[in-house]
Amino acid sequence: MTQIADFHKEEGKQVKVKGWLTNKRISKGLVFIVLRDGSGFVQAVVDLNTVGNESFEQAKSLPQESSLELYGKVLKDEKQIGGYELQVEKLNIISVAEEYPISNKAHGTDFLMNNRHLWLRSKRQWAIMRVRNNIIFAIHKFFQKEKFMQMDAPIFTGNACEGTTTLFSTEFYENPAYLTQSGQLYGEAMAMAMGKIYTFGPTFRAELSKTRRHLSEFWMIEPEMAFYDNEKNMDTIEAFIKFVVTDVLENSKEELKILERNIDTLEKVSKGTFSRLTYDEAVDILKGKKAVNGKTTIETLEQDLAKAKQDIADKQNEIKEKEEIIAKGGIKKGKLNFIKNKIDVLKNEIKDIEEGLLKNIPQWIESAQNFEYGNDLGGSDETVITRMFDIPVMIYNWPHEVKAFYMKRDAENPNLAKGVDVLAPEGYGEIVGGGERETDKDLLISKIKEHELPMEAFEWYLDLRRFGSVPHAGFGLGLERFVSWICKLKHIRETIPFPRMYGRLFP
Ligand code: ATP
Ligand code: MN
Repeated sequence: MTQIADFHKEEGKQVKVKGWLTNKRISKGLVFIVLRDGSGFVQAVVDLNTVGNESFEQAKSLPQESSLELYGKVLKDEKQIGGYELQVEKLNIISVAEEYPISNKAHGTDFLMNNRHLWLRSKRQWAIMRVRNNIIFAIHKFFQKEKFMQMDAPIFTGNACEGTTTLFSTEFYENPAYLTQSGQLYGEAMAMAMGKIYTFGPTFRAELSKTRRHLSEFWMIEPEMAFYDNEKNMDTIEAFIKFVVTDVLENSKEELKILERNIDTLEKVSKGTFSRLTYDEAVDILKGKKAVNGKTTIETLEQDLAKAKQDIADKQNEIKEKEEIIAKGGIKKGKLNFIKNKIDVLKNEIKDIEEGLLKNIPQWIESAQNFEYGNDLGGSDETVITRMFDIPVMIYNWPHEVKAFYMKRDAENPNLAKGVDVLAPEGYGEIVGGGERETDKDLLISKIKEHELPMEAFEWYLDLRRFGSVPHAGFGLGLERFVSWICKLKHIRETIPFPRMYGRLFP
């Protein structure tokens, strides 16, 4: 059996390939089947004269998603998907599919999410899952090459790490327990034993609202490095993100093309230098007091709002013209369907703009203008800032009140914590949170009290400061947010095979 992905090695040769029928077109004496086998897609040509009547009729009536085995010759054909074509000599049906619920026409997101187990077979989802796989592999490559040790942190935990509001509670042999929100504290312990480590595991947060960037269950990569300060931490983050982006550009070309991802920005990221801003500078940019490349956020947002309105007007005009053509009549059925389809597409695009930019921009402007210095940046603030950049932005020197209890205070300016958030460009926002860890045991104890966390649960953690405390730093990258940005998706739900989020536990 040959995989479609290996067809380039089989040009002119006979192969056997097994897969599913994803699309079919019938013409006189020919059936064109698009076969997918997981490794790729290929057009297979079934010719009545070659396969005979019985097989031809079978191919003609075969429904979408039926599984089959094809024998035939591989021919190069640049015009076809994947660059090859299969001339079928023989076909065996493995299983005839029932009527498939997902067709080529537009489906609503809820319908697709309810059919996630099937939706995963479509080409876009195939491409996203493959980019995710590529990213995971590249992440391991980076850290292994840099001599980090991979470790697994526990999933059952006895205490909160990030803030008690998003804890999922469960039971552990009749005692209360929580699903982990982060492996960081355990990562710190391992870093004191191993030097440089990274976790790569599932994390759970009971996010109480629907957003396009929050899942309830997501995968986090959390490196922790002994003897690193926040400077070195930021250098590591930058090298890491560039490495992964470069690897994806190299190894996921076909997938990025399917996703229509504009790769110019990714190429800039792989070669460029990230912007590093203090929290103060970021707030000035947010509020429009400081320009980026000669433009302020507020000006830019106002221009974008005007453009969104113009886009809608243009599309409405186009619809009107098309409806007039239809009204005149005398159009062939094929052409008529084509025009009607185009009108549907335009209407959907208008709806997207109305529900997206048109609704959001005024809210973004308002929250940017009203942002109060000292607060944490919210999702829309991050969007406003990162829409101004085509390269990731690292924000450091945060007010210590908005950061976790373990974040190191700046000795020169105790109001500040040595944290860093990395915001992905193009409006994506936070993908990494990290920083240097507090080494002063007494400060940690007072912080634990201030955050109203149970002291007993942190005694083991305080031991790390009692026995050979050293400066150390680390960060956490959310895998799905990273995938979402690299693929330029509208919503995080498509980045993971079976998303778990507010309102979604099935399938
Ligand atoms: P946000 O403010 O956006 O909720 P956070 O400050 O809670 O993020 P951290 O606690 O710093 O995030 O977690 C580290 C990283 O984990 C984030 O930068 C992000 O990439 C990812 N992350 C956090 N919460 C979620 C979530 N609910 N779904 C997916 N990824 C998440
Ligand atoms: Mn959060």
